[in-house]
Amino acid sequence: MTKYIFITGGVVSSLGKGIIGASLGKLLRARGFSVAIQKFDPYINVDPGTMSPFQHGEVFVTDDGAETDLDLGHYERFIDANFGKINNVTSGSVYQTVINKERKGEYLGATVQTIPHITNEIKSRIIKATEEFKPDFMIIEIGGTIGDIEGLPFIEAVRQFKTEQGMGNAISIHCTLIPYLPTSGELKTKPSQHSVNVLRSYGIHPEILVCRTSYPIPQDEKEKLALFCSVPKDAVIECRDMKSIYEVPLALEEQNMAAVVLNMLNTCYKRADLKSWEDLVRRINNPKTTLEVAIAGKYTKLSDAYISVVESLKHAGYANEAKVNIHWINSEDCIDYECCKTLMKDIDAVVVPGGFGIRGIEGKLNVIKYARENNVPFLGLCLGMQCAVIEYARNVVGLEDANSKEFDDNCKNPVIDLMLEQKNVTAYGGTMRLGQYECHLKDGSIAKKVYGSDVIYERHRHRYEVNNEYLDQISNAGLVFSGMSPDGKLAEIVELPQNDWFVASQFHPEFKSRPEKPHPLFKGLIDAAIKNK
Ligand code: GLN
Repeated sequence: MTKYIFITGGVVSSLGKGIIGASLGKLLRARGFSVAIQKFDPYINVDPGTMSPFQHGEVFVTDDGAETDLDLGHYERFIDANFGKINNVTSGSVYQTVINKERKGEYLGATVQTIPHITNEIKSRIIKATEEFKPDFMIIEIGGTIGDIEGLPFIEAVRQFKTEQGMGNAISIHCTLIPYLPTSGELKTKPSQHSVNVLRSYGIHPEILVCRTSYPIPQDEKEKLALFCSVPKDAVIECRDMKSIYEVPLALEEQNMAAVVLNMLNTCYKRADLKSWEDLVRRINNPKTTLEVAIAGKYTKLSDAYISVVESLKHAGYANEAKVNIHWINSEDCIDYECCKTLMKDIDAVVVPGGFGIRGIEGKLNVIKYARENNVPFLGLCLGMQCAVIEYARNVVGLEDANSKEFDDNCKNPVIDLMLEQKNVTAYGGTMRLGQYECHLKDGSIAKKVYGSDVIYERHRHRYEVNNEYLDQISNAGLVFSGMSPDGKLAEIVELPQNDWFVASQFHPEFKSRPEKPHPLFKGLIDAAIKNK
């Protein structure tokens, strides 16, 4: 029987509930339990796919092609599992289902209301995910902050669901912030007490409190929190700022968080095997070298916009006992080639990540040209690959006006064109080529060597592709199309054999990298950077 762990947040947003949930998931996995997750996002968008990365951070893509909240990335990386559509539930998707049912007359004339129709739909999503994954534990994170109006239907659904499951089958964990007042030199617990009170006013009594803090919380303050928030003393867990997010599971384990959870859920305690994770953290904290790696994109002001790329680079660093310092290069600052040269001067490797629209494109092309000509290890992702093809077509093949139809609909040499299946698509939401597809690797290629396989499966999110009319011309000039779709019609990977590492993919390898299993394309990039150093 599946046991449920609900996670809410209070006091402020961006507390890192996702990291806390993922860390608990890791601790349960380390005890041999199966774990699935669900993220509830109270916004009205059906999914985050149409939101600006500045609003929402990265859109994480699953195997089954769901465009989801970036926390799903943390859950996949910590738990080392693959999730999908059912694991991310938004208000928009819940209301959409309910309204569609109402239009079909499925409510038989009833007045359709938040309670019970919306809350029932939310609960049915929990059941659906449970049936699909049949996990020992289901961790369900409710996005937003307690007190938000838009989160209320989710909170009410959780209250009902928890009650229906009965004691010992479902618990809730409330994550709060313990602010530090420098003037009085004190950590303050009052905001947490208020937040728990609000949660209790909705009928949810949290069993565990996880307190985010920059400083150690003194024992008497923990006891005060336990008393005023009505949780056992050992259920007040401190979660201090860490150098690396991957240290969080170990910090929670030290406070026996998993044991407290298992006890409350009437589950036999098992010993955790965290040896390899401890070794990972040891490598993270004791790097032997440091690498300067640039990410040249347009959303550089918000590092969350490329969070999976950043994590993938770090993972590849950990495998090499190397610390990866990220340098954010705004591609618009590289439109002048001299500026680009200056920004790229001390860079050991560069990634040109995915993106949409023309802004900063000429700067990305300059970054790629610089990397190609100066043998700086380069990895292009999605738009980054499309730019690598444009750059090669312009500067090596000699098609000076080569471009993507995304940036110039009338260009004479559209080496990147809209995919055929996209030509009649008018709606924006969920209509790209999304999710996992098979890709065949060319014999003798770098890609085949690093993957150690002929066939790979990778996740996609794009509308444009390499225009096959230019394939021969470009490959005759030296760019190798080393990964193709099974029908040979869609270019998935390009590489330049003469460079130490010049590889780009139409797919997003960053969604499949794990801290203990770096993705081969990121590992290849970082290996090359280390060799060059
Ligand atoms: N804008 C490009 C396309 O739609 C690339 C998308 C991306 O980088 N995810 O094909």
